[in-house]
Amino acid sequence: MNTPNQFHRISRLPPYVFEQVNKLKAEARARGEDIIDFGMGNPDMPTPKHIVDKLIETARDPRANRYSASRGIKGLRRAMAAYYQRRFGVTLDPDTEVMITSGATEALAGAMLALIEPGDEVVLFQPLYDAYLPLVLRAGGVPKLVRLKPPDWRFDEEMLSRAFSPRTKVVLFNNPLNPTATVYGEDQLSLLAHFCMAHNSIVVCDEVWEHVVFDGRRHVSMFAVPGMRSRTVKIGSAGKIFSLTGWKVGFVCAAPEILRVLAKAHQYITFTTPPNLQTAVTYGLGKDDSYFEGMRRDLARSRDRFTKGLKQIGFPVLESQGTYFVSVDLAPLGLNIDDESFCKRLVAEHKVAAIPVSAFYAEDPVKSVVRFCFAKKDATLDGALERLAGALARSA
Ligand code: PMP
Repeated sequence: MNTPNQFHRISRLPPYVFEQVNKLKAEARARGEDIIDFGMGNPDMPTPKHIVDKLIETARDPRANRYSASRGIKGLRRAMAAYYQRRFGVTLDPDTEVMITSGATEALAGAMLALIEPGDEVVLFQPLYDAYLPLVLRAGGVPKLVRLKPPDWRFDEEMLSRAFSPRTKVVLFNNPLNPTATVYGEDQLSLLAHFCMAHNSIVVCDEVWEHVVFDGRRHVSMFAVPGMRSRTVKIGSAGKIFSLTGWKVGFVCAAPEILRVLAKAHQYITFTTPPNLQTAVTYGLGKDDSYFEGMRRDLARSRDRFTKGLKQIGFPVLESQGTYFVSVDLAPLGLNIDDESFCKRLVAEHKVAAIPVSAFYAEDPVKSVVRFCFAKKDATLDGALERLAGALARSA
């Protein structure tokens, strides 16, 4: 009988970012305490009714519950290509350059398995979305980390020079960046593109937050950066477009020769994604621009409400340019407490769960930043602010 220790590649992985806070949350809930959860990116707003109705209607059709084409139903691939054309000016052939996956996570896993050979170097930016490092390591990649820090989380030529080498096969880049809520524009993308081209690397761009950018910003896809079309794998998620995070419908776009390889990996991971969900997402993508703008406006309003409250309490707030997240930096407060201890205290004493950003670093973490998810109803935001007011007084 094998013991768990024999499965060492997986069992040696560092603990999941949310594990500790989730444990504290579960313990508090078991004691009957009510915790306001600002940890995971889980919106508590009403779900988009028309899209859910479409799912219910579609699920009654037996064909919508059988395996669909491995790359995804044609209607969704077409709708996705049309949507990207309309919103980001990216032209895609739905037959050869678009594939539907079971969430962005499957797309990421497939890309790592398909593109990395053992010993290949992979450039990553930390703080890292939690799935990246385990996937790169499991695929046999050698991570080369670029360390970003507050307040602006930018990278420069020197940082990239240290990470890139002639062995750099893949770059895994997240824009807008979770957890920092940074939206990278043309200047940073061009710098990274220059390094990718000079080192003949493929960039896997996790752009799941591309629809959630604020203050008139425009998401620039790496796909649209001159010279990058043939070496970019663009990953998206319907969960983030429609705030239906549990649906797990993802998109991968790449030049036909790369997509062919990714499609092979997908074939042996999930093969396909529930067609009823795909049909409902197709319907959603057909909504006119005002629908998507309305969602962004509502999220920006929640961000502003929560940010204002945090500032009134006295938290130094880092700018949230996109995503569902806003972070505070404890460093200027001189509290003598790190982000992890602060989050543990928040959940234990103030009944608010948040995430210490140090958990998103693989090495040399920035230990002063705490991330909150603001994609919540006003009452939830206000209730949390009331509780958080006590947290600073207690730590001072
Ligand atoms: N990448 C990033 C940066 C994310 O924030 C998330 C979800 N939080 C994902 C990927 C996963 O997306 P999905 O739920 O579609 O798998």
